[in-house]
Amino acid sequence: MATANPRKHLSKLRELEDGYIECRTRRHRFDPIPDPGGAGRKYQESKSVARLSSRCERCGLVREEAWNRITGAILFVNYRYPKGYSLSGTGSKPWDVRKEYLARLNGKQPSLVTRQRRAAAKTTARTPKPNARRRPAAPG
Ligand SMILES: [Zn+2]
Repeated sequence: MATANPRKHLSKLRELEDGYIECRTRRHRFDPIPDPGGAGRKYQESKSVARLSSRCERCGLVREEAWNRITGAILFVNYRYPKGYSLSGTGSKPWDVRKEYLARLNGKQPSLVTRQRRAAAKTTARTPKPNARRRPAAPG
């Protein structure tokens, strides 16, 4: 009888982008955004309901909420996860993610994605144009 590889569940974890690992372990960096609508439509913006939405600047996760303006109660919360973020079905545990984060932090386990990007950057290196990103200041 074959024995399952006890480390197989870590392979998906190792492929996760650094930002996803950081968000999973260090929490998201949410910035307010206009309500994209869609989820939780029964809680429309009104005198008694406030709709609030935010997006994580690092991983792109969108959080949609509805709050009761009178009681302050949270009526509704929905999360829209970015593609590739989920570890569902992989068997990875929260402590596995924390260990992966620490390994990357210590430079022992650079993510495959990071390594692939570095390799791609080396093959498609371009000479940056001086001041290419600078734009004239807006009047006023
Ligand atoms: Zn995030």
